Amino acid sequence: MEIAANIHSLPGGRGDILGLRHANVYVVVDGEAALIDAGYEDDHEVESKLEYLREIGVSKLSYIIVTHRHYDHAGGAAKIKMATGARIIAHSQEALAESLASTSVAVDRAVEDGNVLEVGGLELEMIHTPGPAPGHICIYIKKGGVLFSGDHVLGLGTTAIMPQEGSMAEYIDSLRKLLAYDIQLMCPGHGPLIGAPRRKIQELVQHRLEREEQVLRFLKQGLRAVDELVREIYPELDEHLRAMAQGQVTSHLIKLEQEGKVASSGREGQYSLPG
Ligand SMILES: [Zn+2]
Repeated sequence: MEIAANIHSLPGGRGDILGLRHANVYVVVDGEAALIDAGYEDDHEVESKLEYLREIGVSKLSYIIVTHRHYDHAGGAAKIKMATGARIIAHSQEALAESLASTSVAVDRAVEDGNVLEVGGLELEMIHTPGPAPGHICIYIKKGGVLFSGDHVLGLGTTAIMPQEGSMAEYIDSLRKLLAYDIQLMCPGHGPLIGAPRRKIQELVQHRLEREEQVLRFLKQGLRAVDELVREIYPELDEHLRAMAQGQVTSHLIKLEQEGKVASSGREGQYSLPG
């Protein structure tokens, strides 16, 4: 489906195994073309993307730009590269990630913040937005003010910042960094297009800071364990989201600890106020 001048959203296959989260894939076309993310690696997912590119008459796919390492975004990159000869582009820190580096077809070009890729007459600026993953990038096209936001800003649900590879402090900093761009249309990695991007970004920052305040309040009341905090913060939590909620709360605690506002008690998953 064409969603703006030069930009299409590609159809997905069946989504992930749980059917919970379809991952969006976009293509930027101006003579040659660049894919933004590659979706899952399942054959039917990959084939539906290739078929769409044929339908709209893309004869030269120059790049597959991967916003970050997660399998719902990077999974299909190797197969699509094999079918089209496109070069895989990712941030230098993602290029090293096991899920990208270990595929038989690795990243062809590692990019850094501020690098610009030309696709026909269009300029695609790479914006380093660490948070969900260390080398997460958003891609900005000044003409039309379009931003592809990957997992950084979603059209649906909340970005999970997991302590293993994510950083809450960087996530919030990266959100603020995006406010410097004139964004008219935001194309997220999940969910519908975002029509009022600036407000959405401000809401996300606000939401995170409020959550942080809430964590501090519960610690002040004497709660110590991540599990207890999760129970208070998400009283009606769906069981299969528990690990994600624990990760999210732990990421907040790590940020607060780095800022000296919280102390780790030495026992795993136990925190308190310092002093
Ligand atoms: Zn994702």
